[in-house]
Amino acid sequence: MILTLIGRHSEAGDAASFIFRADQPGFTWRAGQFLHYILSRENPDDRGIERWFTVSSAPFEGQVMLTTRLVERRSTFKAALDALAIGATIDADGLEGDFVVDDPNAEFVFIAGGIGITPYRSILLDLDHGGADINATLLYANRTKDFVFKEELEALAVRHKNFRIRYVVDPETIDEAAIREAAPDLARPIFYISGPEPMVESFEKMMRGMGIPDARLKRDYFPGYRWPL
Ligand SMILES: Cc1cc2nc3c(=O)[nH]c(=O)nc-3n(C[C@H](O)[C@H](O)[C@H](O)COP(=O)(O)OP(=O)(O)OC[C@H]3O[C@@H](n4cnc5c(N)ncnc54)[C@H](O)[C@@H]3O)c2cc1C
Repeated sequence: MILTLIGRHSEAGDAASFIFRADQPGFTWRAGQFLHYILSRENPDDRGIERWFTVSSAPFEGQVMLTTRLVERRSTFKAALDALAIGATIDADGLEGDFVVDDPNAEFVFIAGGIGITPYRSILLDLDHGGADINATLLYANRTKDFVFKEELEALAVRHKNFRIRYVVDPETIDEAAIREAAPDLARPIFYISGPEPMVESFEKMMRGMGIPDARLKRDYFPGYRWPL
C-alpha cells in the first residue's frame, strides 16, 4: 500500500504526528494495531530502512496517523521521515496486532511508557466513538511533563467519569503500589502495557509476580528506545 503524506504536526516534547492517505479505498484497522513502513534512503544507518509504527488515529478518523519521537541524534529512517514533504509517499504493509480491545465494556488498566501512549489514543477515541462508558485507569509515565496527547486524553476524562489518568514523571516510576491503587481488585481488569521493550518486559515480570495471569495481560513492545526513559 502507498501512503501519501497529507499533514503533520508537532506533539508535546520532541514528538510529531504524520497523517497519511492510503491508496487503498476503504483501508481500515482495529484500534491498537500497527503497520510496517519502508522508507528507502541512500546510506541508511545500521538500523535499516523499515520500522513498525502503531496507527495512532482511530479507525473512524479515516486517515492513518503515526506518532513518533524525533530526537536530536536520530536514525537515518527518522531523518528521512522528518524530511518527507506533503504529497510525498511511503510504502506500508502488514497491518497486524492483537493489542486491541475485544470487550468495550470491560474494565482496563492501561500502562504507557513515553511514546507507548500511541495505541491508547486510538483505543480510547474508538471506545468513545463507539458509545462505550469507558472504565479505565491510564498510568502514563514520561521523562518530562511533556505528555503526548495530554489535551485529548483529558477531554475524554471529562466526558467519562470512570476514566482516570495518573501521570508519573521521572524520577517517579509506576510501581506495584500504583498498579494496586489503579486496580484494588487485581482479578477484574484487563491490563495493557505499551512502551519501550525493556520497560514492557520489566512490567510483565512485576505483574506476573503480582499474580496477574497472562490471559489478562496484553503487551505492545517498542524496540529501539532506551528505558528508563
Ligand atoms: C509493533 C510496534 C509498534 C510501534 N509503534 C511505535 C509508535 O507508535 N511510535 C514510535 O515512536 N515507535 C514505535 N515503535 C518503535 C519504532 O518502530 C522504532 O523502533 C522506534 O521509534 C525507534 O526508532 P529509531 O530506531 O528510528 O530511533 P530514533 O527514534 O531515531 O532514536 C531512538 C534512540 O536510539 C538512538 N539511535 C538512533 N539511531 C541509532 C543508531 N543507528 N545506532 C545507535 N543508536 C541510535 C537515538 O540517539 C535515540 O537515543 C513500534 C515498534 C513496534 C514493533
